[in-house]
Amino acid sequence: MKPAIWLDGSLCDPDSAMVSVFDHGLTVGDGVFETVKATEGRAFALTRHLRRLARSATGLGLPEPDLDEVRRGCEEVLKAHPVAFGRLRITYTGGISPLGSDRGTAGPTVVVALVEAARRPDATAVVTVPWARNERGALTGLKTTSYGENVMALARAREQDATEALFGNTVGALCEGTGSNVFVVLDGQLHTPPLSSGCLAGITRALVLEWVGAKETDLPLDVLYRAEEVFMTSTTRDVQGVHRVDGHTLPGAPGPVTAEALRIFVERAAADIDP
Ligand code: PLP
Repeated sequence: MKPAIWLDGSLCDPDSAMVSVFDHGLTVGDGVFETVKATEGRAFALTRHLRRLARSATGLGLPEPDLDEVRRGCEEVLKAHPVAFGRLRITYTGGISPLGSDRGTAGPTVVVALVEAARRPDATAVVTVPWARNERGALTGLKTTSYGENVMALARAREQDATEALFGNTVGALCEGTGSNVFVVLDGQLHTPPLSSGCLAGITRALVLEWVGAKETDLPLDVLYRAEEVFMTSTTRDVQGVHRVDGHTLPGAPGPVTAEALRIFVERAAADIDP
């Protein structure tokens, strides 16, 4: 099935939807985005995603997005293309800027795309990234379209038959994945790095903290080799166990704590589409 596209205020044909080659999001990565889970024609946790979109946009110095308008875009693509399971991708950029690196004055570009997606398996392999996530950088904590570092790390993971790459930060502490947050079980206790580690304030992470409970703890990156269980959270993975980190195997993944976290998450998410 073709994706459904909403661009700058209206639904459009996916084959002819066009964004300028001078769009600042394309030329210099001056944009922000959200990926939202779509199930049975409904968007999960849309209010939290829209709020984070606004936080990322203003953090990057873009004008505050009109969230009612973006929500309308989401509703229109969901109505046009009511997939059983998919992803909404919201992109909001600095707009057209023909001559250089300053933002243009024509106003931002707003795109909402809805595509079908496959569900992820309960457990997967990950690798660690040999360079550091900067926990004090200007873009830290913002979900911007400047994701080149994540794209490189994920490509390395794929080369090693893994589906995610996990970063340490500049002081060697566990941080996050290219598109996920990470949780570890130590002595039966669930831990996740704090936001000060430089990780994104993941919406799934926040829901697992609220619904399942975990300690926010600074942990060294090599905790991944010692942990009883490791799992990742994200919009596209929900709660996904890890059965291999680099060459190290975690037998029996998803383990009991991960399985319980997944069970609670699925149950609570089914009861409330916009928690
Ligand atoms: N960390 C990064 C860098 C991400 O890009 C994402 C999601 O895309 C996450 C964590 C997980 O966030 P969420 O649970 O909101 O999908």
